[in-house]
Amino acid sequence: MSIRRLPEKLVNRIAAGEVVERPAAALKELVENAIDAGSTRISVRIAEGGISRIEVEDDGCGITAADMALALERHATSKLPTDAIEDVITMGFRGEALPSIASVARLTLESRVAGGDGWKRVVDNGVVAAEGPAALANGTRVMVEDLFARVPARRKFLRSPRSEYAACLDVVKRLAMARPDIGFTVEHDGRRVLDVQGGQDQLTRVAALTQRDLAANSIGIDIDRADVHLGGVISLPTYNRGIADHQYLFVNGRPVKDRLLVGALRGAYADLLARDRHPVVALFLDVPTSEVDVNVHPAKTEVRFRDPQLIRGMIVGGLRRALDEHGFRSVQRPAEAALAAWQQEPVAPPPPTLFAHSQSPPAPMFGAVDAGTTALLHDRIVDFAPPRDALPMGRAEPATMPVPGAEAHPLGIARGQIAKTYIVAEAEDGLVIVDQHAAHERLVLEQLRRGMGGQAVPSQGLLLPEVVELDEPACDRLEAAAPQLAALGVELERFGPAAVMVRATPAMLGAIDCHKLVTDIADDLAGYDAALGLNERLELVAATMACHGSVRAGRTLSVAEMNALLRTMEVTPHSGQCNHGRPTWVKLAMDDVEKLFGRK
Ligand code: ADP
Ligand code: MG
Repeated sequence: MSIRRLPEKLVNRIAAGEVVERPAAALKELVENAIDAGSTRISVRIAEGGISRIEVEDDGCGITAADMALALERHATSKLPTDAIEDVITMGFRGEALPSIASVARLTLESRVAGGDGWKRVVDNGVVAAEGPAALANGTRVMVEDLFARVPARRKFLRSPRSEYAACLDVVKRLAMARPDIGFTVEHDGRRVLDVQGGQDQLTRVAALTQRDLAANSIGIDIDRADVHLGGVISLPTYNRGIADHQYLFVNGRPVKDRLLVGALRGAYADLLARDRHPVVALFLDVPTSEVDVNVHPAKTEVRFRDPQLIRGMIVGGLRRALDEHGFRSVQRPAEAALAAWQQEPVAPPPPTLFAHSQSPPAPMFGAVDAGTTALLHDRIVDFAPPRDALPMGRAEPATMPVPGAEAHPLGIARGQIAKTYIVAEAEDGLVIVDQHAAHERLVLEQLRRGMGGQAVPSQGLLLPEVVELDEPACDRLEAAAPQLAALGVELERFGPAAVMVRATPAMLGAIDCHKLVTDIADDLAGYDAALGLNERLELVAATMACHGSVRAGRTLSVAEMNALLRTMEVTPHSGQCNHGRPTWVKLAMDDVEKLFGRK
């Protein structure tokens, strides 16, 4: 078999497979080109999720008529001033986007440089279809129609216009976040869906492109290490999502979806979020170009760091510290919707039927009411009373203690308990509600973590040591982990071939079901036997143990116990969220309380 070169058209199609696997990918290349052209405004119009049409118009430097043919040729680029690919600062540099797109769609390129005439060139699935003068303002307009119309194998893999549209919007959002100096608009099927002005600073732009309440629920990041800078915002763990799509990561101004970065982010939030919850972040990493290779992925979404450990350490350590400093915070304001629900809950008016049978107008309650009405009234009240066991369980003790200053005691002073689950406290600046179970679980976990760090967890000896029978491998595992478990406050020893004797449990858990605790620990140690190291398994054990705390939902707490819980929360890192990323407490600001009553 003789070796021959592939024809240009085929080469382009093959490249197109990598560069433009879907409309969003083509759109990304076009917007990047517009950015590289020094544009100040970029308008995007797409139809049917970009499948039938993508249009990108910019006011950048433009392409001369003479260069236009070259721009559509493979590996032709104006962006490598030196021979060193490491030094590129432009978005593009591979010179294959336009020819690749043109090989699998109908591409119309129109452009005009300042002081020149407009020119246009149409390439239809790899074949030049038209060329000639064009009328347009300075800048470039690229239109891509019927992507993959002649490549059915690829067209088949496109998803619904809705999901292709979502991907397109995501692409523009990310690029717009990277370049707050440029104005962007997006129109989908004639509807304006994104519009940001140029000249914004980074955080304003992030705020404009994410959910409005992120700003109030995030922490600013600004970290320098060696020549590397990490900036941006990260959400409090309580402000999380079920999918990781709101994680905007940038390396040297380039949006990336890099695995190392995503992994480091996971690490930073490791035990603050349930495995299936994800923080919202916009993080901008700036690294000297010699430290990073941006040319490892055709769509340029992955990068390779020369010193991945440095980057990983910086992200995990830096974010962790920032989260520690704000660990106590929780989502500060109830969501607008929640507030609205409060507002909409009407105070039940007295049922109109109460007096309907009475011929005379309603008599004053304490006045002379005839016997019949009284009886009716009485009956009705009994009728309308909810079943006995569904009575709201509220309880309050005399509010004698003064409210402490918000600065030192943001959680305030306990005033009562609702449904044996929620502590109601009065803070200087608002009304605080604490989920006692979630909060306690978190406190226990933090204490156990300190235990793993060498600060032994106080244990409480059992009056009578308890013998727990388990199968032999489970006992072996418990025995092997005994020294580590002791540091976590669980003291146990082997007791014959198929049992362990438990002498003490963590004091903080209170009186618990010892048998169940030890069985669960054994399960944790077994379940992850092969996959994880002992320390990681102990992390899981700690989380399991935390669930065993006796301050569960449904336990009546004394005011002293409630206050003790609040005070401990105030000094414990990460007490603002439970082990699953839900808030442990919420505060209704005084302002909001007053709004509820129409006082503001
Ligand atoms: P690359 O961006 O990697 O250089 P492309 O195939 O995307 O490769 O583009 C080829 C060339 O066409 C670019 O180097 C640039 O000179 C020119 N070009 C493409 N789009 C634009 C635009 N919107 N404005 C000005 N020049 C452009
Ligand atoms: Mg390009």
